[in-house]
Amino acid sequence: MSTGGHPFAPPHHEQRWVDTATELAAEFAKTAGALDQSAELPLANLQALHGSGLDAALLPKELGGEALSYRSYGEIVRLLSAACPSTACIWVMHIGAGVGLAEISAPDAARFYADELIAGRRFANALSEPTSGNLFMMPMQHAEPVDGGFRLTGAKRFASGCEIADHFLVNALVEDKPTFFGLAADPATMRFIPIWDTMGLRASRSQLIEFTGTLLREDRRCPALRPKRPNHIGAGLAFLSLGIADAALAALVDHARRRIIPTTGEPLARMQWLRFDVADVHARLEAATMYARHMCWLADENSAEFVPATIRAKQLANGLAVDAAQLAVRVGGASAGYLRSSPIERIFRDAQAGGLMAYSLEVCKDTLGAALLDGHDG
Ligand SMILES: Cc1cc2nc3c(=O)[nH]c(=O)nc-3n(C[C@H](O)[C@H](O)[C@H](O)COP(=O)(O)OP(=O)(O)OC[C@H]3O[C@@H](n4cnc5c(N)ncnc54)[C@H](O)[C@@H]3O)c2cc1C
Repeated sequence: MSTGGHPFAPPHHEQRWVDTATELAAEFAKTAGALDQSAELPLANLQALHGSGLDAALLPKELGGEALSYRSYGEIVRLLSAACPSTACIWVMHIGAGVGLAEISAPDAARFYADELIAGRRFANALSEPTSGNLFMMPMQHAEPVDGGFRLTGAKRFASGCEIADHFLVNALVEDKPTFFGLAADPATMRFIPIWDTMGLRASRSQLIEFTGTLLREDRRCPALRPKRPNHIGAGLAFLSLGIADAALAALVDHARRRIIPTTGEPLARMQWLRFDVADVHARLEAATMYARHMCWLADENSAEFVPATIRAKQLANGLAVDAAQLAVRVGGASAGYLRSSPIERIFRDAQAGGLMAYSLEVCKDTLGAALLDGHDG
């Protein structure tokens, strides 16, 4: 797929990375259904992504990467998500934590995390808490000062890909202030509680982690500086939902063209109700795409407008994915939309996750609505 030409599209010189993701995604699509059923981590997919050089390419140039643009990154997340959204979800979290730690750590630690990412080590985010829920940037658990750092006893929930992670991005209250740390997996004090029997994104295995006196090392504490570049989780989440909407639209168009309605002798695709509804979903997909690409352009410009733009982009994409998947179920009917054997059934379940993931659809709307109605910037 060539996306060049438009200022919000991936830069022309990065097209080879979009092509690489297109090829990988074609392979990932073949196993997405089986991984959903078994709820196994898509380890081979994640290793293939690393093997392609994509993980390292996202690092800043001074740390051995290519500073791949957010415009290309967004397009790549979308392609992966259309093929296997569990893979895309873990990859967004892996890049968000790995590149994020390399961006926000003190220089020696930053170099260490960049080298670990380049070497193929795996990263995860342990931010959400059972108590704080959606407000994952506002931890409620305190880390207590000890020699060499701080000890954390508590729990973090829904850490995608945590069971294969070598390093975590963790936050906790230190002297009442939210503070980020890099943390190496520590089986002696960290335990995964198997809560992950879910409706959708089943292969993302986003388990609950219990911490019992885990040491958060002082030398892995991230200085409270403004990150040099925007975080890749904020930039990626809208594209997770756009990819799922792409998959829903492709599946419903394919079925509507093949399914012959006996009373008319014509394909379902000729029905006017479907033409109206598919036009509506498609127009919203185009609009949400344009806005999400604009958001990535703001990230490439390192603009302060990026943060409210992530919230708008996520809101537009999350709701659209659910509506596109719902239409696909109607088009598929019982035989092609409701049976477990149908890809549409999995797409419908996967589509629900985007709006639940932080910031949830409601938190996004509340933030933007309050900004408008209360008269301050969103
Ligand atoms: C597939 C998946 C992968 C995830 N991966 C990770 C990960 O890798 N790392 C990680 O740290 N977390 C991860 N999460 C967690 C996620 O980001 C959220 O923090 C979590 O889903 C919140 O769940 P909750 O049950 O506590 O919801 P709650 O926050 O309790 O939300 C319940 C309801 O209340 C609403 N609500 C909550 N707060 C507000 C508010 N302030 N204003 C308006 N409405 C509100 C919500 O919109 C929702 O409707 C993942 C979640 C999912 C589903």
